[in-house]
Amino acid sequence: MSKKVRHVLGISGGKDSAALALYLKDKYPEIEMEYYYCDTGEELPETYDLLNNIEGILGKKIIRLSPFENNDRSPFDKLYEDFRGYLPSSEARWCTKKLKLEPFEKFVGDDPVVSYVGIRGDEDREGYISKKSNIQSIFPFRKNIWSEDVIQKVLQNDAIPFMAAFYNEYAEERKLTRLLETINRPLSFSFRQLQKLNALLDADVKLFNAAVFAFLKTTGYPLAVVEEFPLVDNDEVLVRDDIFRILRDSSVGVPKYYEKIPFEVNGKKGEYARSRSGCYFCFFQQKIEWVWLFENHLEDFLKAELYEKGDYTWMQGETLRELIGVPYQDEHGNEILLCEVEEEHGIKKVIWINHEILAKRNAVRTDEIKEDYIKKASKGNKSTSLYLLDILDDSEGEGCAACFI
Ligand code: SF4
Repeated sequence: MSKKVRHVLGISGGKDSAALALYLKDKYPEIEMEYYYCDTGEELPETYDLLNNIEGILGKKIIRLSPFENNDRSPFDKLYEDFRGYLPSSEARWCTKKLKLEPFEKFVGDDPVVSYVGIRGDEDREGYISKKSNIQSIFPFRKNIWSEDVIQKVLQNDAIPFMAAFYNEYAEERKLTRLLETINRPLSFSFRQLQKLNALLDADVKLFNAAVFAFLKTTGYPLAVVEEFPLVDNDEVLVRDDIFRILRDSSVGVPKYYEKIPFEVNGKKGEYARSRSGCYFCFFQQKIEWVWLFENHLEDFLKAELYEKGDYTWMQGETLRELIGVPYQDEHGNEILLCEVEEEHGIKKVIWINHEILAKRNAVRTDEIKEDYIKKASKGNKSTSLYLLDILDDSEGEGCAACFI
């Protein structure tokens, strides 16, 4: 007997996955969803608040996944030790692999799984998702809800007879001739897969979805054994504004770190925030976000700074101390400590902060970053937006389904 297909949705702590959970629960309550969250132990406090709020609304536990059974230390720190102080970076992203993808794949095991991913209709990316064959990703916010591998199979030239037969049987009479022209035209240098996909989606999203769903029955994908899949009939496309609306309309609200905070630097006014969820020390942060962290989450900034040793730094070419203008040693060559931290049950707490040295810091660099940022923001035409991510246009591009959605 074939195994039951599981439906899973990862809540990353970001706005898009939270909105997706609410959207699907509202629109498709019949889907028996399992919610999970991969905890690095190093998230912003707002992320943990969001998880608690959303759990209340979903009326279901969000399963916390960790690579370790014993959570006496933060999962990130245990791995950091294994990697001997080698910090993750966009080139060596062991954190996502070890703390997000692997625990997720273990949670799923060999079960056939449909995994719902909150990539929006206004994004052009697939994210960093699991490629295991028993896990099928679905993107409900996009016009094209299917993953790239499925689309490749459905639109390959070998699948033309199947697709043509399906369209022949189910397409509306008035559209049939044109649709069959598109279906029967083989892919080539002058007719690429994306062109074919867009032509079929533009003609009729629901019909295309139905054809893909029927095609999947001939494959080993998890949806092959599902009798009905309600998302086949979904032709809604949701973009960034829709996500904020869903969150605002619910009692979950928009995670606080997205909301801009005003600042003033050398007589100029600006606003800053954080553009995404994820670990407070995430190396994908932009400089202005590090300044935001320093000025609004001092303890998290200081904890991040403690990781920097020798050549291992969060940013290339600049340490966090350089950024905030505090030296490593005093005039006698003694090491300057910025804080002390205690850890209990995997939760780190800053128990002492060197406020004296911080009060004397050289703010030239942080001021410069703020001024540059104001300049950049004023050039864009979206500066009236409430959110930093509307100004940092590329801020979400490098993200991944596991951390930031
Ligand atoms: S948020 Fe950033 S640092 Fe944390 S796991 Fe994801 S990529 Fe790594």
